[in-house]
Amino acid sequence: MTSISQNLASISARVSAASRKAGREDGSVTLVAVSKTHPAEAVRAALAAGQREFGENRVQEAAAKFPALRAEFPDLRLHLIGPLQTNKAVDAVRLFDVIQSLDRPKLAASLAGAMAKLQRRPDCYIQVNIGDEPQKAGIAPALVEDFLRECRDRHGLPVVGLMCIPPVDQPPEPYFTQLRDLARRHGLTQLSMGMSGDFEAAIALGATAVRVGTAIFGERAPPAAETKA
Ligand SMILES: *Cc1c(COP(=O)(O)O)cnc(C)c1O
Repeated sequence: MTSISQNLASISARVSAASRKAGREDGSVTLVAVSKTHPAEAVRAALAAGQREFGENRVQEAAAKFPALRAEFPDLRLHLIGPLQTNKAVDAVRLFDVIQSLDRPKLAASLAGAMAKLQRRPDCYIQVNIGDEPQKAGIAPALVEDFLRECRDRHGLPVVGLMCIPPVDQPPEPYFTQLRDLARRHGLTQLSMGMSGDFEAAIALGATAVRVGTAIFGERAPPAAETKA
């Protein structure tokens, strides 16, 4: 497990260097360690190395791994970064501190109900389908304004920023730029963009949270089937 602490040290150093290079304050970028598919022991190794922000893409997996770790590390913060079924909204609001995958009106309504029920309000990011890809989750860029209004005015959701996963087969910079401009236009300060392969480019373009899995925890086994959280 020492490799996890080494990887974390090297990625943290690269995050700091990229922040400085972009003229941004140290600490202005949150490194979210994406631990999906990796066992609790891997998370524990990262916690031992001082990492506190983690990302998971499935409610069930996070529910199995994190409550015990949270009891030991109360300052741990858990981000949901994968698609969420409305019938798991209550579980997600109970378990996560940040929900980065708010991607459709029906989910906005379910999250609002869950927050009212539990009296707990995780920060939300609207997931934007920044490449307008038909197969991908997220709100089309052209619809972000209406959706943001619906989330805030109709449902009272604490929307703090935007999240995106750019198309895999193209340079990400134009998409990061587009997400940044979209966030600025709507007065949103938080930008979740950048993964193992492109987090430095994302930081240069204003990311406030980067989601890094493979570069910290190693390769993941391929998923058996695509299922929603
Ligand atoms: C898995 C995942 C990541 C991490 O990707 P890596 O390439 O392993 O760093 C980031 N964001 C989302 C939404 C993911 O599902």
